[in-house]
Amino acid sequence: MLIAMNNKNERIAICAYPIKDLIQLKKEKWTCPSCKEPVFMKVGTAKQPHFSHYRQGKCQTFSEGETPEHLAGKQLLAQWFELQQIPYQLEASLSTIQQRPDILIYEKKQPIAIEFQCSPLSANKMQERTQGYLKNGYAVIWIVGKKLTPINKLSSLQRQFISYQKKVGFYLFSLDIEQQKIVRYSQIVTNFNERISHQTIQTTFPLTGSKHQSFQNLMMPSQKVPIKKDEFTIKNIKQQQKKLSKALYYGNKQHLIVQEKLYMQHLHALYLPVEAYFPLADSPIIRTPAYYWHSLLLLRLFHLGAGHLLELKELKKWWQKKVLAAEIQYYPLPLIQRKPFVSLERYLHFLQQLGVIKAEKKDEYRVTEKIQWLFTQ
Ligand SMILES: [Zn+2]
Repeated sequence: MLIAMNNKNERIAICAYPIKDLIQLKKEKWTCPSCKEPVFMKVGTAKQPHFSHYRQGKCQTFSEGETPEHLAGKQLLAQWFELQQIPYQLEASLSTIQQRPDILIYEKKQPIAIEFQCSPLSANKMQERTQGYLKNGYAVIWIVGKKLTPINKLSSLQRQFISYQKKVGFYLFSLDIEQQKIVRYSQIVTNFNERISHQTIQTTFPLTGSKHQSFQNLMMPSQKVPIKKDEFTIKNIKQQQKKLSKALYYGNKQHLIVQEKLYMQHLHALYLPVEAYFPLADSPIIRTPAYYWHSLLLLRLFHLGAGHLLELKELKKWWQKKVLAAEIQYYPLPLIQRKPFVSLERYLHFLQQLGVIKAEKKDEYRVTEKIQWLFTQ
């Protein structure tokens, strides 16, 4: 921890003092602002100066061991807010909700809890903490440390940190204390087996130096981050089918369930219209494999028949019905309360490009003759 109470009951930030003063201050009596137990100053060369409890584990709010990364990250963020003159409080003890965010800031009077998460925690705990903030009028931003920064695959914990904004799509933040920068992963899309697609975009936000970026810039980008296109080639489809065939062969449960459902519709996972396998990239918040709901949508269009005119509104209703019937399943993600329709809209856009549907007016589509052909190949 970076904050403790002195004998005058004042909250003191250890980073406010140069090392030579700390050696003097070390002799004073310090207490934990949360549990009021005595704490002591640790001033060494390896870790950044911090306070520590005499008896570990007794304190609820500071039970997690503090890693050098966590300490350094908190301090780095505090300096960054200082630089921008954003009011902040390090390790604020929110006694009414029994939570202690790493940093609490006030942005246009809205309190925002910032959590720099370096060590793994259970998805339940993360959800609990998030709900605690949201229910009590705090916004919350999670920033992950090195261990939790996504590389290839998206773990179930990493997925919990994903948020959504129209301009940047699905995104999450990570903080690199060595490079002193925040990286935003935006337009996050996953491929087969939860692999993060190369289409995901990384943007760097330096926190220090003359090129440092503002918090505003990070949170409210003025420009849309464009989506990278997926390549629709026969080679890619073949690859996708091969992976799927392998998954079915090895008894992957999720794909076997989907295969059973497709079978009821007289379809086979490996012999769907090619349009069902694309785009390969899929939303990181939908648990149901994309090729499955793609084929449900294609079937729906097929049953409506060529020439049929339909509104986006109807299709959204159709989507919601499928969600209610658990035909399309989402991951429960605490930072995305209202599920956006982006996946549906993206797929409709793709079907337009392929000429399966044609946009008539805004948000109105006509099913073309091509739909007959899809199911008779
Ligand atoms: Zn304590």
